[in-house]
Amino acid sequence: MIKDDFPILTRKIHGKPLVYLDNAATSQKPQAVIDALSDYYERTNANVHRGIHTLAEEATRLYEEARDKTVRFINAASREEIIFVRNTTEAVNLVAQSWAREHLYPGDEIVVSIMEHHSNFVPWQQLALDHGVMLKIVDIDEEGRLALRSNAKVQNSKSNDLESLISPRTKLIAVTHASNVLGTINDIQSVVRMARPRGILTFVDGAQAVPHSAVDVQALGIDFYAFSSHKMLGPTGVGVLYGRKAILETMRPYQTGGDMIKRVTIEKTEWNELPWKFEAGTPNIADVIAFGVAIEYLAKIGFDVIARHEQELGAYCLERLRAIDGLTLYGPQEMQERVGVFSFNLEGIHAHDAATVLDEEGIAIRSGHHCAQPLMERLHVPATARASLYLYNVKEDVDRLAQGIKKAVKIFRSP
Ligand code: PMP
Repeated sequence: MIKDDFPILTRKIHGKPLVYLDNAATSQKPQAVIDALSDYYERTNANVHRGIHTLAEEATRLYEEARDKTVRFINAASREEIIFVRNTTEAVNLVAQSWAREHLYPGDEIVVSIMEHHSNFVPWQQLALDHGVMLKIVDIDEEGRLALRSNAKVQNSKSNDLESLISPRTKLIAVTHASNVLGTINDIQSVVRMARPRGILTFVDGAQAVPHSAVDVQALGIDFYAFSSHKMLGPTGVGVLYGRKAILETMRPYQTGGDMIKRVTIEKTEWNELPWKFEAGTPNIADVIAFGVAIEYLAKIGFDVIARHEQELGAYCLERLRAIDGLTLYGPQEMQERVGVFSFNLEGIHAHDAATVLDEEGIAIRSGHHCAQPLMERLHVPATARASLYLYNVKEDVDRLAQGIKKAVKIFRSP
């Protein structure tokens, strides 16, 4: 059983076996990843890219091997295109700072969607405010799908479908690959087909997509892709920015200092080569190496196996949730159109109250706005409860979730 590789899943919470269904927030870690961290500190610890002693060379090799694993993982064209950052949020900020400074002028436009996580929304919004750039918002249809063309029924005065938002001033489209609230998998290839012929760059937030299925950045034809290690079995403190080499070469680093330079004189500085010119200072060496181990762990199981398991379990979860009286489920109703992230509300019960009852049953779910307040406003709800699945979840976990929700309903609806 995959579950056996994850020591935390043997814990009891309030005397009951833990059912962990908050995977969209962060995933749990297999023993192999935990071991990689302690092995590194017990055997190798040294700074990278500098020393010539054995430990320094070993640390550098392991750190750079993790980059090569990442290249293969998302099928980047070269290791120069993989930049290690702290998380998805930092990857967005890097592009917002480094790319925008060189390429955006007042009156230019950036398009984002209403379903974005704040980390792929606020940096663009702030950039727009600071640079006189316009931020345009793509709406969703009634099942929480991205409104790509004008035949999608959109009803929001503040947003519209993507096709009608694109103008000659559009410079960038920044959208999520999969929604952390609705679970929707967006049709990135269609977005690229609209963007590329017009010279518009695409930035895709892959934080919720990468943990669940194989991603091929070259096949997608996107310009930037960002994701976090901690949502795909790796440690916190590591994120990846993929950027097409030709574009990264035109960008100026927004963080400067050690490690990112080739030559410094009193008068000026020459930047290091890609990817190091964007990795200022000592990187998160141990966690990057353990992230490489997480990639290997996932690859060994196989992304087709992971995706199939999640689709089957997700379909079962959809069925169980839909059968609960007074439960509103957000996002596409067909499992093929989504990842295993299920946001819902229960009539007359606040999401936090439902989550509290579930916690007493040993079941971890999330409640709140999920860092997507514009989407909450669009859905006309203050919050949702969210259960999210991953490869170690099993049918019994979904059964316990359904029983827990029914218990919450009973407690809060009883006269
Ligand atoms: N985008 C999406 C779709 C997410 O779900 C998350 C994490 N909840 C993020 C971005 C931000 O990830 P991080 O906090 O690791 O930067």
